[in-house]
Amino acid sequence: MKKHIAVVGAGYAGLTAAYHLSNFGYQVTVYESARILGGRARRAVINQQVLDNGQHILSGAYHSLLKLYDAVDSNPPHLHKLTLDWWMWNRFRLTIKPNFGPLSPLVGICRAKGITFPEKLKFLSFLMGLQFGKKPKSGLTVAAWVSTQPAKIIRYFWEPLCVAALNTPIFKADAQVFYHVLRDGLIKAPLKEALILPSVDLTALLPDRMANTIAEQNGRILTSRRVKAIYESAKKFVVDDAQGRSEFDGIVLAIAPYQMKYIDIQLENNQSLDEYRSYLNQLTYESITTVYLQYPSDCRLPIAMVGIHGCTENALGQWAFDRGQITNQAGLIAVVVSTGDTVDQLPDEVLQAKVQSEITQYFFPKQHPLWIKTVREKRATISCDVHKVQSTSNVVSLTNSFYVAGDYLHPLYPATLESACQSGEQAAQLMHKYLLT
Ligand SMILES: Cc1cc2nc3c(=O)[nH]c(=O)nc-3n(C[C@H](O)[C@H](O)[C@H](O)COP(=O)(O)OP(=O)(O)OC[C@H]3O[C@@H](n4cnc5c(N)ncnc54)[C@H](O)[C@@H]3O)c2cc1C
Repeated sequence: MKKHIAVVGAGYAGLTAAYHLSNFGYQVTVYESARILGGRARRAVINQQVLDNGQHILSGAYHSLLKLYDAVDSNPPHLHKLTLDWWMWNRFRLTIKPNFGPLSPLVGICRAKGITFPEKLKFLSFLMGLQFGKKPKSGLTVAAWVSTQPAKIIRYFWEPLCVAALNTPIFKADAQVFYHVLRDGLIKAPLKEALILPSVDLTALLPDRMANTIAEQNGRILTSRRVKAIYESAKKFVVDDAQGRSEFDGIVLAIAPYQMKYIDIQLENNQSLDEYRSYLNQLTYESITTVYLQYPSDCRLPIAMVGIHGCTENALGQWAFDRGQITNQAGLIAVVVSTGDTVDQLPDEVLQAKVQSEITQYFFPKQHPLWIKTVREKRATISCDVHKVQSTSNVVSLTNSFYVAGDYLHPLYPATLESACQSGEQAAQLMHKYLLT
């Protein structure tokens, strides 16, 4: 008889685990409390448009996610793979095209617009240090690490890059985590895929496709099914949700860290569970807000993704995405505003008016949006705070064949889709290894 595994949570981590377990030959049941798959990276239908709960960016360094994307079925949706075109509107532009082989970054920096030659030299010398593996000391913030860089480069490159990659402002972000992202995303990743933007919504990109494969292998995907409790009984695990109790040989628990307190977990030996809970207690969170503005369909941004971070004093918007160029939603602009108490406290109308005035001023001086909607995710990711104790492994084993997975557990990287996929994949592998013995 096939062993039966329950996966709780159908975000990227849970579905990745379920997909691999199903391929290993296990009977898999996925419990998801929401109606839509994808968790914090999911489809959101707004004003009859298929959008996301927040604009996401991927990169060529997302090996685990991209491997899955290719493997799940033979019909993957289109991905826009872009070279680095770091354009802070009217202030700074750095384009790195792969045409010059290993010298491409050097050529790109020499040609960068908005900075002087001495500033370029300082920028280059920092990047060369990175290339040669010059790692920051532990306990250093990103702000302290880049403090010798010219002010303009900090403002138009390091600051927005840190927020985009770590969703944490530079004054508190952990320089070592940032270093790993730079090493893998900027130095090692192929220049042709510095940025990747999906052309479909985030549920269609992978979660729906993984769920179809799991269902084809007789797995079950149960949506709108919130798990209330998990406990051990006679060498099995009992999963309790509003519709009853079921027994399993193994569990992968892949819910967001702040959702853990709503599940009652009872184990015969609680030591690992207590340690894990004390790790969760020290986590703090950062928000991400996305403002969608529908302009007339002939309104286009100069490129698919333009930086507006710091372009005017007290500007709120950080990045503007042209959904017309990404998903054929002509005239639809997504403005991302990450991490910030100021933003979280502003009422929607005030935030929208401010973002609208920024976009109108920079790009469409004669136009008015037809509609504006805001999606707020208050706990979008954990904070990559320099004071946070790093997790030591990207999967937590609570007891034999009970694993916890999720984006927040990666020991080196920030909480991203890639960290979620890596964690889910590893949870499946550990489960398989254990059940084989
Ligand atoms: C607005 C926004 C923008 C982002 N931008 C980026 C980006 O550009 N690039 C990037 O890589 N990452 C980005 N992220 C982060 C990325 O979305 C997350 O890292 C990733 O989605 C986390 O996946 P996960 O599976 O670990 O957790 P989750 O997605 O949180 O999945 C957990 C799932 O468990 C379910 N669940 C919870 N409790 C229960 C229960 N009791 N029973 C059953 N089910 C339950 C939840 O409904 C959810 O579906 C962004 C996140 C947000 C919110």
